Amino acid sequence: MVRAVVDLLLPLSCAACGAPTRDGLCADCGAELPELALDDGAAVDLAPGVRAVGAYAYAGPVAASIKHVKTPGRHGAAPALGRLLRYELALPPSRRAPWAVTWVPSTRRRRAARGAEIPRLLAGPGARRLLRRIRDAPDQTTQDRAGRLSGPVGAFRAIGPVPPRVLLVDDVRTTGATATAAAGALRAAGARRVLVATLAVAESPGARDAPGAADRTEPAPTDRPRNRLGTG
Ligand SMILES: [Zn+2]
Repeated sequence: MVRAVVDLLLPLSCAACGAPTRDGLCADCGAELPELALDDGAAVDLAPGVRAVGAYAYAGPVAASIKHVKTPGRHGAAPALGRLLRYELALPPSRRAPWAVTWVPSTRRRRAARGAEIPRLLAGPGARRLLRRIRDAPDQTTQDRAGRLSGPVGAFRAIGPVPPRVLLVDDVRTTGATATAAAGALRAAGARRVLVATLAVAESPGARDAPGAADRTEPAPTDRPRNRLGTG
């Protein structure tokens, strides 16, 4: 079934490994997806009325393809990854179901650096802009856990009135702080229920000992040295 979706994808090289393919992911990388698929989307309630689900663990070809599309000028496979996200999570189609589809807006700096807004591409053609980023939160990758959790609060504002049910798409959920802040802005503007859907769920730094953390994901192999002691 995954294969059937992957076949719809158009780029000429695999977004994860670079192998020639007419798909977004090559057959070998696509074959790893069922292993990475999260049970029940690893659903978690972030706040009242705000539920989060993710399609895959942030590892292997999923992590590699997300890093790839975030590389400046390499976002071509992002719409294909978005189709994978919506397929894996069986997300409500924007035209049939009364869910408005939107995305977590990127910071202006990232948008400029990448030449594209990746979450918008993942959200698909039916999405519409409901949020704007009113300030650039500090880069989450350079902060400790406390900084990441507090950083995005107040970073978003809704554009006009928001429908009652909103599907909010992003690429990766780690602490959930960014999604919670974005969903909070939607709720303040009229949304009763917000479903946050991400392509991947990464293990939250500092949450390694949390219940349920053990059978979650691990960082992509490229994120850490294979041999922590070094080779000499
Ligand atoms: Zn591949």
